[in-house]
Amino acid sequence: MTERHSEILVIGGGVIGLSIAWHLSRSSHSITVMDSSEPGQASQAAAGMLAPLAEASAPGPFLDLALASLRRYPEFVEGVRDASGLALEICGPGMLRVARTSEEAAALDRALEWQIALGLPLERLSGEEVRRLEPAAAQSILAATHSPQERHIEPRLLIAALSAACRRRGVEQISGKVIGLESEAEQVVAVRTDTARFSCRTLVIAGGAWSDVSAQWLGVNIPVTPLRGQILALGPSANPLLQHTLYTHGAYLVPRRDGRIVVGATEESVGLDTSTTAHGIAALRTGAESLVPTLTDQPLQSAWTGLRPLSADALPLLGRVPGWGNVHVATGHGRNGILLAPITGSLMASSILTDAPLPNAFDPARFGGAL
Ligand SMILES: Cc1cc2nc3c(=O)[nH]c(=O)nc-3n(C[C@H](O)[C@H](O)[C@H](O)COP(=O)(O)OP(=O)(O)OC[C@H]3O[C@@H](n4cnc5c(N)ncnc54)[C@H](O)[C@@H]3O)c2cc1C
Repeated sequence: MTERHSEILVIGGGVIGLSIAWHLSRSSHSITVMDSSEPGQASQAAAGMLAPLAEASAPGPFLDLALASLRRYPEFVEGVRDASGLALEICGPGMLRVARTSEEAAALDRALEWQIALGLPLERLSGEEVRRLEPAAAQSILAATHSPQERHIEPRLLIAALSAACRRRGVEQISGKVIGLESEAEQVVAVRTDTARFSCRTLVIAGGAWSDVSAQWLGVNIPVTPLRGQILALGPSANPLLQHTLYTHGAYLVPRRDGRIVVGATEESVGLDTSTTAHGIAALRTGAESLVPTLTDQPLQSAWTGLRPLSADALPLLGRVPGWGNVHVATGHGRNGILLAPITGSLMASSILTDAPLPNAFDPARFGGAL
């Protein structure tokens, strides 16, 4: 068995673990990220929308966190792009949240009343105005909220760039599954894989939908379960069918730079099953074609799944693990981990390095601590 040491050890090399490592890498500590490449890693599967207002139904701590993360995104991308040398960028002219019934249009209007106070530029469009911006959009679209600052990013490129940027800053990245922890007096002193023992001074659990396994070793309640998302790509089409992301609660379409359109996503509680299903793919295609009818002619380029880490109250868990002096957790980002990556990395790094306080709403102790 190999013996290694790292001052700070992060379990999980998805967008959350890597963003934490990236923000920590400005310190002088040695940092290691361990990842087991579980099938279903959420970060590689995501659509990449950076859309706080699509997901939040009212003002509150989640929306504050999401907006703070969106504000940080340009600087985050610039830093990761410069350090990695990869052409990472925030894409597209923004999002159209569309309504196809009068009830949906009324809901958009009600939401706009409180959303407008948040400082993002938002505009109410009629169906005709939507089709002027997006000629392929369905005639059935009655209205939309146009949100130019809710753009998107290519998640696989983001992961590749974060990984390269971390490496350049000296963060070690190890392929391997953590299968157990060693502790002394409420401190984790080492983690074990099949072949190695890594001693550490600080442990960060960012294991996505698998975080509860580490929590069980610690005897604490981290109620996070997998929520499967099936998602697919249509095209590519030589003449891009869309510029904006089209979003409804049932389906969304995210145009990629290469002419493909990503269609998301199902929400299924099926444990760690990462299959795609005929029903899931058919439902996504139907939803897509109801927004852009000509998508019916587009080939199915690929379909895949990811397991979102969903917490019991749908809010992230960020902070110190109750009862443990040197263990921190960042998980439960559900449908929004790509959006929330910059703020999570920044808040967690400050908390780990300087004990800076984190917002109470996300305190992991809210679920009672011990199992
Ligand atoms: C279909 C779909 C669409 C989505 N679309 C969006 C979107 O548009 N916008 C948005 O903001 N978010 C979106 N999300 C959500 C987002 O992808 C997740 O919230 C985010 O990726 C979670 O990141 P994570 O790092 O916590 O988890 P993951 O990306 O799942 O990473 C966790 C990592 O931990 C590793 N791990 C776990 N246990 C161990 C262990 N014991 N040892 C070693 N490694 C371990 C796993 O191998 C895994 O790689 C989407 C998700 C899905 C599935």
